[in-house]
Amino acid sequence: MTDIFADVEPMVFKSGINVPYTWWTGETAGTFFMSIRDEKKIMGRKCIKCNKTYVPPRKVCPVCFQDEMEWIEVRPEGVLDSFTIVRRQLASLPRKVPVIFGLIRLGGADTSILHYVEVADHRKIKIGMRLKAKFCDERNGTIHDIACFVPAE
Ligand SMILES: [Zn+2]
Repeated sequence: MTDIFADVEPMVFKSGINVPYTWWTGETAGTFFMSIRDEKKIMGRKCIKCNKTYVPPRKVCPVCFQDEMEWIEVRPEGVLDSFTIVRRQLASLPRKVPVIFGLIRLGGADTSILHYVEVADHRKIKIGMRLKAKFCDERNGTIHDIACFVPAE
């Protein structure tokens, strides 16, 4: 089989795209972010029909496809369901590698939230370990009001 790329010089160009925009969070995401900003409370939405609690909150239950949901405060700590460690410093990464992204299922929630995980030794991170939210002192109404999740004592 002929390698059609044998004589092709690999070329890479550096570039950047900056697309500033604003968007309305809507009631569901707005309530979620404001609760974190103003009260350090992490809120989920519980489906009245199937009793599943979603964090981040959903306006409509993705299982029942209905919007009879209630707000419920979940615990700011939970269990690490999965994780990945990024070891290559990409320009899009705002943190210095290694960066750990984790899926954390908070107490009272049935779904996991994606966030940064920080541990003293990244080789000791384990699925099932208990983590807690580390809130920023200055909060602005974004998911980054939670700086990261750290091991719970
Ligand atoms: Zn449901």
